[in-house]
Amino acid sequence: TISIRNLRKYYGAYEALRGIDLEIERGEVVCVIGPSGSGKSTLIRCINRLEDFEAESEIRVDGTPVIPGRSLAKVRAEVGMVFQGFNLFPHLSVRENVMLAPRRVRGTTRAEAAVQADRLLARVGITEQADKYPEHLSGGQQQRVAIARALAMEPQVLLFDEPTSALDPEMVGEVLDVMKSLAGTGVTMIVVTHEMGFARQVADRVIFMDAGEIIETGSPEQVLGQPQEARTRNFLSAVL
Ligand code: ATP
Ligand code: MG
Repeated sequence: TISIRNLRKYYGAYEALRGIDLEIERGEVVCVIGPSGSGKSTLIRCINRLEDFEAESEIRVDGTPVIPGRSLAKVRAEVGMVFQGFNLFPHLSVRENVMLAPRRVRGTTRAEAAVQADRLLARVGITEQADKYPEHLSGGQQQRVAIARALAMEPQVLLFDEPTSALDPEMVGEVLDVMKSLAGTGVTMIVVTHEMGFARQVADRVIFMDAGEIIETGSPEQVLGQPQEARTRNFLSAVL
């Protein structure tokens, strides 16, 4: 469970998040949509403590508070993140990329970590690429490795920030398919995306953000099909 209360975030004098309240249940898949600059990335970066936030705000991951300036390692172990750019370690093979965090953070043995990595690589459908280096993989394959790497820490929640928007169009489907199959296994996911088809099919809940606030939230049918707020309608008419 993720519990966010009155989340405020300033970049200098600019208020990027203006008091976000959000509860996410275990196993829930939440898609976050909204215009550029609305604070979507900032929101999920705060959950992962990639960004600090105001002291009055509260974020809890399974009861454990995410505290600005503290508790980094614990939060990072509980919260996996997949970025738009794949951010794989270029000097490590695919398998080693997936093995790294469990070895470093958990002290998992090399042999155990390798077995786990191969299981995760099978889960994202790239067993054959395990010994290659990231530069020799397609963008879609690299992003699937990034998902396997995030899963290796067995996080409570996986955050995705536009995971398909840097991909060539023909590779978007393979990454969305992996995400869909993950969603079916009960992993809690927060997905910032412009893929409205994915949101409609996979999300338990869609959140529309604008100007640092949650404007509207509900089932995909409600938010995408019957938006109540003018700003949601305007956004959807521009992207659909
Ligand atoms: P996009 O769809 O373009 O990715 P977003 O919804 O993810 O947009 P954010 O990246 O969260 O938006 O940014 C929210 C606001 O905060 C924007 O106005 C942005 O310019 C500002 N901002 C983001 N990061 C910084 C930073 N490091 N320093 C200053 N301002 C920032
Ligand atoms: Mg963003």
